[in-house]
Amino acid sequence: MKKLSLLLACLLLTSCGSVNNTAENPVVEVVSEAENLSEEIDQVTENSEENDQVDQEVLVEEVEEVVEEVVEEIDYEALYREYKVNEAGKVLVIMYHNLADKPGTYASTPELFRKDLERLYAEGYRTVSMTDFVNNTIDIPMGTTPVVLTFDDGSKSNFYFDENGEIASDSAVGILNDFYAEHEDFGRNAIFYLFGTNPFREKDLVAEKLNYLVENGYEIGTHTYGHDNLKELSGEGIEKTLARNEAFIESMVEGYDMIHLSLPYGIRPVEELRKHIWSGSYEETTYEIISAVNVGWNPVVSPAHVDFNPKSINRITCGDDEAELHFWLDQLADRPERRYYSDGDRNTVVVPASKAEDVHEAYKDQLITYNESEEE
Ligand SMILES: [Zn+2]
Repeated sequence: MKKLSLLLACLLLTSCGSVNNTAENPVVEVVSEAENLSEEIDQVTENSEENDQVDQEVLVEEVEEVVEEVVEEIDYEALYREYKVNEAGKVLVIMYHNLADKPGTYASTPELFRKDLERLYAEGYRTVSMTDFVNNTIDIPMGTTPVVLTFDDGSKSNFYFDENGEIASDSAVGILNDFYAEHEDFGRNAIFYLFGTNPFREKDLVAEKLNYLVENGYEIGTHTYGHDNLKELSGEGIEKTLARNEAFIESMVEGYDMIHLSLPYGIRPVEELRKHIWSGSYEETTYEIISAVNVGWNPVVSPAHVDFNPKSINRITCGDDEAELHFWLDQLADRPERRYYSDGDRNTVVVPASKAEDVHEAYKDQLITYNESEEE
């Protein structure tokens, strides 16, 4: 009766929300417990099956009952405490540019980028897309922390092919792909903010690369058409540069809408012209932008936090100087109460009771709080 066990596992996964099959996930234990129970059902139903009189509906009902019992037995409060679950905590949105031979103000190197991924993975960070981050549809296992990887400017080092026509293993995409092949549970998410008509600087391969990104779960964000300082443009000028960039990407990747913006130089227009960033048009092309990232030095609050503003998302630079990536990883390791830890279920927002006020009103219906110290 393998089928029944399988069905049971599926049902259990559905009722527990997102459960990744990693050893570190406590719900995995519950799954194995459920599998033992399913064997008991197997024995009960064995005879009837042999007689070819198995009523599938009755079977499913029995399985659902077992699942319900098992789920009821999970002590979620204890799990939340153990995994320091705090979905109003801080998140790192990391800003990369090119990967060079030597690290610079914004440049990293293939070696350092690999090391960043290794440290993030080892310390329980899991990549999420910018879209899932902004929309708070973060889907990672209990006890892990989301991280968003961003690349500005579309330098060739982000994505190029080697002499054999393979994605170069020292390019950002090559490194991400290789890391993902070894650590599937890290996820493979990154957003590339592009401008102009020659992203990744190999004119003949632009369409191929852009389609590859989209087909493999990566995201493309806009960085304006001319890498423009938006403060120097009129409202019309802002719409023109954003719509032209949108038109170019659409001409390369059918039906793709860029909804995330990286402000060139981190500069935004004067207040009264900002509305032109979020939607506009030029000639035949319209665009809608839902998020904008800054060039910054601080972690950002969770998308469920009352202070979250998708139109002004702080990023941190890669590197290990003060207020850069490794500085913040150290900080969050020392002060885990500040860090976002997932409950493993994208449909709920779980925080310690003391942080209930941090959660935005929009998530009131999904909010679950728990006591940080065990009570009688
Ligand atoms: Zn730039």
